[in-house]
Amino acid sequence: MAQPVEITIPATGRKIAVPTGLFINNEFVPSVDSKDTIQTVNPATEEVICSIVAGSAADIDVAVAAARKAFNTTWGKNVTGFERSRLMNKLADLMERDAEMLAELETLNNGKPVRVARDFDIGDSVQCVRYYAGWADKITGQTIEVDNKTKVAFTRHEPIGVCGQIIPWNYPINMWSWKIAPALAAGCTIVMKPSEITPLTALKLSELFIEAGFPPGVLNTVPSLGSVGGAALSSHLDVDKVAFTGSTVTGRKIMEAAAKSNLKKVSLELGGKSPHVIFESADLEQAANWAALGILYNSGQDCTAGSRLFVQDTIYEKFTTLLAEKARAMKIGDGFGDVSGGPVVSKAQYDRVWSYIESGKSEGAKILTGGEKRPGKGYYVDPTIFTDVKPSMKIVREEIFGPVLAVAKFKTEEEAIELANDTSYGLGAGLHSNDANQCMRVSSALEAGTVWVNQYNMLNNNVPFGGKKQSGIGRELGSYGLEEYMSIKAVHWNFGEKLDWPF
Ligand code: NAP
Ligand code: MG
Repeated sequence: MAQPVEITIPATGRKIAVPTGLFINNEFVPSVDSKDTIQTVNPATEEVICSIVAGSAADIDVAVAAARKAFNTTWGKNVTGFERSRLMNKLADLMERDAEMLAELETLNNGKPVRVARDFDIGDSVQCVRYYAGWADKITGQTIEVDNKTKVAFTRHEPIGVCGQIIPWNYPINMWSWKIAPALAAGCTIVMKPSEITPLTALKLSELFIEAGFPPGVLNTVPSLGSVGGAALSSHLDVDKVAFTGSTVTGRKIMEAAAKSNLKKVSLELGGKSPHVIFESADLEQAANWAALGILYNSGQDCTAGSRLFVQDTIYEKFTTLLAEKARAMKIGDGFGDVSGGPVVSKAQYDRVWSYIESGKSEGAKILTGGEKRPGKGYYVDPTIFTDVKPSMKIVREEIFGPVLAVAKFKTEEEAIELANDTSYGLGAGLHSNDANQCMRVSSALEAGTVWVNQYNMLNNNVPFGGKKQSGIGRELGSYGLEEYMSIKAVHWNFGEKLDWPF
């Protein structure tokens, strides 16, 4: 089983041939030793889309060997940055050409609105690949004077090698792009493991890789269960780096596997419980829009979701009323309809989010809006806002990864900062205020890799992104993201010093 299957997008009638095999050496192949499959599901209808091959640990070995061979022959230090850039730009053009089709496939498997998938996820992904294509031929080291008469040193920024990349289901195409683009620009080769829940677009994008003209083995895609393929990649002795986005629990396992095997370099983008602080001087209408976006975008399945909202006591009633209106105005439904949000991704995620809503109710938080299940098919969770929450509640402490917001009150700036930082995470944080000095003070005090002032959740391909505390290690995007894929070699050059012997 590695033949493509033709699936039809019900809403548009578009037929898409989806590869079902493992993508290794620019071919779609069956597993070398396993008959396991992964069943993909449309979260809006709960219907099965198709089954694909689930890779085994032995398939990871084959893919890593292909990536190693490419690294040593056609890629790595054997190809110029100009050529890497040319191929990456070609890939970006093909992604742009196929944006509508890829968006429909993403929506079918993930649930997010087609418009969002096309204009945001894919639009941003195309730009990300182009951004790093721009870097590929501009990678330079340093020349370091040691002694003008006898010695000089210089650095070479070399590709780190074969990279395992493990991505989640919330932004399947976007996370694919964030991972492959800096790796390719640096000259690395890749074994990609998409999420078992949303593997289809990574397979479809692999076809574009061939069309763009990349040599075999540069990118390999092995859909597999996390405990099989993900574990095999992170413990592999011939993988030089593993890059991961997903939960903190899994991130910990990956770091442990790396430590116990070959001490491969690890970068982790993990979860969050990001605070969003609204001060009394803020433009309340705008702040409510950003706060709603912060928790409801992508149905709250966002690592930076602004899931803890702190509102100054003087504006608390007014602001929460406004926010509830914003939440109720958002249309949630099948991503192929005219909606701003879709279902959550899977039955497991649906059950998980509802268990948190139940816990919020039983721990005594007040429901401002939402909190009721819909009848019928589809993993829908309507925007749910809890007020009067206490710092000890589970809905305040744990990442929910759904459209569920916990709102609390504060009196002073000091109290707001203390509440905001009272978490083991440190991914994102937001604040709204029209007092410039306050913005500067608070943005400095918030413990997070990204702080948004008078906006939320906006990222740019040229600005670094990553976590503090237990939200991760390393940075993606920008020039910082490129550094994660490079190994710095220092060359010491002697052109005059004689070594006397014995010394
Ligand atoms: P997850 O387990 O962290 O999955 C992310 C990726 O890691 C997937 O490709 C997964 O594969 C893989 N994986 C799973 N176990 C692995 C292992 N032992 N070694 C290596 N890789 C492994 O996330 P999840 O279980 O799908 O979701 C659970 C929760 O994680 C969510 O509710 C949310 O709180 C959080 N999450 C955060 C992000 C984020 O962007 N920060 C993204 C997704 C989820 P499989 O898909 O095959 O399991
Ligand atoms: Mg999982």
